[in-house]
Amino acid sequence: MSPKHHQPPISGGDRKALNKELAKARVMTGIFAERSAELRERGEALIKEADSLACQSWNERMWSDGGPIDPSPTVDQAVNGGFPWLEIECSRCKAKRDVDLTALPHVDTTCIHDLASRLVCAKCKAVGKRPKARLLQLMPRSRYSTLED
Ligand SMILES: [Zn+2]
Repeated sequence: MSPKHHQPPISGGDRKALNKELAKARVMTGIFAERSAELRERGEALIKEADSLACQSWNERMWSDGGPIDPSPTVDQAVNGGFPWLEIECSRCKAKRDVDLTALPHVDTTCIHDLASRLVCAKCKAVGKRPKARLLQLMPRSRYSTLED
C-alpha cells in the first residue's frame, strides 16, 4: 500500500522514519480492531447475563408475590437473556398458555408487563370477552412445545 495521504519527505532519513511510522500504524490497525472485537464480545456476554438476571428477578417477584408486573424486562432482554417463553393465564377462564416471545411482533421498548392487556385468551375472545392475561413466569423453553395456542 502506498502512503498516498502523506507527502514523501525530501530527505532519506525522514522518509525512513515516515515508513516506520506507517508500518507501526498498520500494525496498530489490526491490534485495535482485534481488541475492540474482544471487548465487544465480553460486553455482549455481560449484557446477556444482566438480561438473564433481570428475568430471574422478575420471576422471583411473580412467584413470591404475584406482582407488581411493572417494572419488567423488555421482550428483547427476555429473549437475549435466555427466557424467550412467557407463561400466562387467562384471568377469566384460567386457561394457561405459553407465549413464544420471539414470534411476537413488538417494538424495542415493549416490556413484558405491556403484554398483559395484549395477550387475550382465544377462547374468551370467541365469546366477546377481552380479559387481561395474568403473567406467571418467563421460561427458557415452553412446557407445551408441541401445542399451539
Ligand atoms: Zn379465557
